[in-house]
Order: sequence, then C-alpha cells, then structure tokens
Amino acid sequence: MKKRAVIIETKNGVIKDANFGMIACASKGDNTLYAFIINQSGEIFKKELGSYGIEHIVDICIDSDNHENNEKYEKSFNPILFSDAVVQAIKDYEISSIFGLTTPMGKEILPRVAAELEAPLVMDCLDVVKGFESSFNSDSNLDFDLAKTSLYSGKTIATVKVTGDIRLFGIRPNVIEPSSKIDLSQEQLSNITVEKFVAKNRYAEQSNIKLIESRQGDLSGNDLVAADVIISGGRAMKSGENFKILNECANSIENFGISSTTVGASRVAVDLGWVPYRMQVGQTGEKVSPKVYIACGISGSIQHFAGMKMSGMIIAINENINAAIMSNCDYFVEADLFEIVPQLTKELQKERQKS
Ligand SMILES: Cc1cc2nc3c(=O)[nH]c(=O)nc-3n(C[C@H](O)[C@H](O)[C@H](O)COP(=O)(O)OP(=O)(O)OC[C@H]3O[C@@H](n4cnc5c(N)ncnc54)[C@H](O)[C@@H]3O)c2cc1C
Repeated sequence: MKKRAVIIETKNGVIKDANFGMIACASKGDNTLYAFIINQSGEIFKKELGSYGIEHIVDICIDSDNHENNEKYEKSFNPILFSDAVVQAIKDYEISSIFGLTTPMGKEILPRVAAELEAPLVMDCLDVVKGFESSFNSDSNLDFDLAKTSLYSGKTIATVKVTGDIRLFGIRPNVIEPSSKIDLSQEQLSNITVEKFVAKNRYAEQSNIKLIESRQGDLSGNDLVAADVIISGGRAMKSGENFKILNECANSIENFGISSTTVGASRVAVDLGWVPYRMQVGQTGEKVSPKVYIACGISGSIQHFAGMKMSGMIIAINENINAAIMSNCDYFVEADLFEIVPQLTKELQKERQKS
C-alpha cells in the first residue's frame, strides 16, 4: 500500500482548517496516511487528525528539541532546517507522495524538498488524482500522477502529469472540501500511532547557514488563505484609515461564529500604501478560496479575479453597474460602499443582540 504524507501547518498551536481539505485529497484510494508535524508535539493533535483519517503521526524534531512551548517553535521557523528534516523523514518512512499547502510556509519547504529529492512538484493544485494508467495497474508502483492547477491567472486549468518514485503536491488552501469528521472509538484512537523522528541537524556545522533572528510580522487579522469570509477593499476606500469600516464589518461577521473572517485588498490599495502587501488578493497577491468573498469598491480586473475566483460566493458592492465585477459575481449591491458597509455592520450587530 502506498505511503502518503501531509505536512501539517499550525497557527498559535492550533491546526489550520486548510489542512483538512488537503488530508481529504491525500486520503483518496488505498494508502497509508502519515501526518508530519514539525517541531510540535504530535500527541496533542492525535484525536483531531485521527478523526480526519490520519493513521500515523510523525513528530519531526531537529536534534533534541523539547516541545514545551509549541508557539515558540512556530516562531523559530527555519526553512532550511525544516526542509532537510522533512527530506530525512520522507526517506526514513519511504513516503511516495507528499502534500503541503501552497502557503508562505509551503512555498518555503516544498520546493526545497523537491530539489533535494530531485522529485517533481506541482504547486497550487486544485486537485490531485490517479490517472487511467495508475488506476488500473494495482501492483505497480504508480500513485497519484495527475495534478490540476490553474495557469495564466486562472484562465485555464492544466492537468499536469508527474512521474518518478516520489511526488510532491502543494494544495491551494480551502479549494478541497474536508471529509466529514469521524467520531473515533477508544480503540480506533489507540490504533493511531505517534512517533518522534529526530532529524539530524545536517546544517549545524555549516557556517554559511545560520538563523540570526526571526521577527514576527504583523499578526493582526486572520490568515487570508485560511479565511472562510473575506471582505476586501479597493481604490474606492480612498485611504488606509477607511479600511476600519471593513474591519468593523469583519468583526460583526465573526461575532456570528465565523471565526475566520478577515479583510483583504486590491493591489491598488496596497500600492498606494493604505494596507500591507500581505492583504493583497490577486495574481501577484494571495490566491484565496473563502466561502464568501465581499468585494467593496473593486472593479474586478482579471488580475484581481485570478486570486479570488475560486470563492464559494462572490458579493460585489460597487456604485458602477458596468464594473466588470458586477457581471462576474453571485450577488451585487449597486451603491456607495460608505453607505452600505456600515449599514451591513449595524444590521449584523442588531441581529447578534437579538440572538
Ligand atoms: C502584472 C499585474 C499584476 C497585477 N496583480 C494584481 C493583484 O494581484 N491584485 C489586484 O487587485 N490587482 C492586480 N493588478 C492590478 C489590476 O490590473 C487593477 O489595476 C486593480 O485590481 C484595480 O484595483 P481596484 O479594483 O481597487 O481599482 P479600480 O479599478 O480603480 O476600481 C475601483 C472601483 O471602485 C468603484 N467605486 C468607486 N467609488 C465607490 C464607492 N464609493 N462605492 C462603491 N464603489 C465605488 C468604481 O466603480 C470602480 O469599479 C495587477 C496588474 C498587473 C499589470
């Protein structure tokens, strides 16, 4: 049976939701599914990962780190050491397909691992499947060999065929629905293994690679790529200060129990220095797939669409009925965003008070 591994990402000691769609993709067909967790205690995630179908958890650590403080290790992320540790674990556990997320962390680790193993990598996958040849050749070494990924700013979906003994796939966060959670019995839970894999720090002796300092960026707001609801502002916001009305609206949505709501922006709003680059959605920003995307004062250029067209539902607020976004969304409001957004926030707050 094929061995596949998913590289799990956490934030503040909690597994990011986007991992569960990746697990659903990796668990298709006959396979043994491993979860690689780097510099964290795998034991605390056993129940959660097990309920999504993970059978083995490999708690990868570098040298003899202890795991008293999960957050501390997330902050000391070193892509070179982490990638090398993953390479060692892949070899040790004889993994044939490795899945990660196309996130900043995945973009650091997956290409390095692929280069080290001389293995093919497809990033930003929308799905990964077995092709005809692999599906009907049960006793061969063939595993997942077809990856769907979007090209040319999302204008086309390419199906890429990969070959080789080891294959890597970077999954676009939130495009694949997680499978339903299984209620594990005590026996099923006890069958899930958690092993510690101590990777050699092969770079420790090399003077040219040294982690000098790691600085935490601005953590306000939630991850764009992991968000269920994104409310974005464009040129029409007029200033960075005005983004506070979007923040207030996002907070009111969160108060309804949608914990991963956040604020995004078009490139114009970023280029004008109103908001930081990490908030940019689009071809040269983040590619997002929230359940709901609310575009406020954004015209809907192809470059912006390239980043948010996979959203479950697109709502546009724009005062120009002829703006491209108005004919490419599920719902639109033809109005001034400075009237509609505060009104929406107020209505949400009123509803919240009632419940
Ligand atoms: C190589 C390249 C890469 C790019 N990458 C990206 C990218 O990653 N992301 C991205 O977003 N762009 C990207 N762009 C830029 C892109 O082409 C557009 O210029 C940009 O998306 C436009 O931003 P906007 O919609 O905020 O502004 P505009 O196009 O100026 O649209 C503003 C909209 O606001 C509406 N409006 C004005 N006032 C109000 C109001 N009070 N209430 C409601 N609506 C109002 C207007 O009707 C208009 O539709 C890229 C461009 C290039 C060439």
